[in-house]
Amino acid sequence: MRGKVSEVFGSIQGEGIYLGEKQIFVRFFGCNLSCRFCDTKLDSFKEYDPQELFEEIKFHHDDYHSVAFTGGEPLLQKDFLKEILYSTCCYGYKTYLETNGTLTAELEDVIEYLDIVAMDLKFPTSTGVEKHFWQEHRDFLKVASRKQVFLKGVICESTSEEDLNEALDLIKECDKSAVLVLQPNSLEDSALLSSKLRHFKQLCRKENIASCVIPQMHKIIGVR
Ligand code: SF4
Repeated sequence: MRGKVSEVFGSIQGEGIYLGEKQIFVRFFGCNLSCRFCDTKLDSFKEYDPQELFEEIKFHHDDYHSVAFTGGEPLLQKDFLKEILYSTCCYGYKTYLETNGTLTAELEDVIEYLDIVAMDLKFPTSTGVEKHFWQEHRDFLKVASRKQVFLKGVICESTSEEDLNEALDLIKECDKSAVLVLQPNSLEDSALLSSKLRHFKQLCRKENIASCVIPQMHKIIGVR
């Protein structure tokens, strides 16, 4: 079995509630979505077998917090991901999955090997993709909440209050303790976006959902 991986590197986490933690990043090639703000549309990859990839992960290992499997969408290569997660877990490394939160059956198959799930909520008015994924996100969060999970939604000038309310309903229904990270779109920097973030934060507070506004810090401080 061989998997397509775009890059393996050590750096610090630039997003979400583990911001600043030192991690080994394994970036899987390919995604099932096409968000308009995507900054990881990669066109090259290297093929690995699981043992080869694990040797590369070990080569990078130092005093890292965890190994972050990211993409693209890692769950698209579920069988390969499962093999590499198994080796990583058995070796005693903490595992962290960054995912768009749409492939529930695939998550179900690997959840036992995960420590942390960083799950996206794809707001249609943010992604520019008309199809919505609220049911997929519901199903996914129910499985992810067996482990430590937090949610991340990219907020753009175009993001609607209806989408935020859908997200809050979903969190209340599936896992009230999950933190929602409101991540400003790094391609926009406007008074409208700032005021929307403040408003959305207030709506989260009103609904008793823990939330925080965290930008993509790696882009601000200029690390990979
Ligand atoms: S889900 Fe993530 S990797 Fe896939 S297109 Fe959207 S932003 Fe890019």
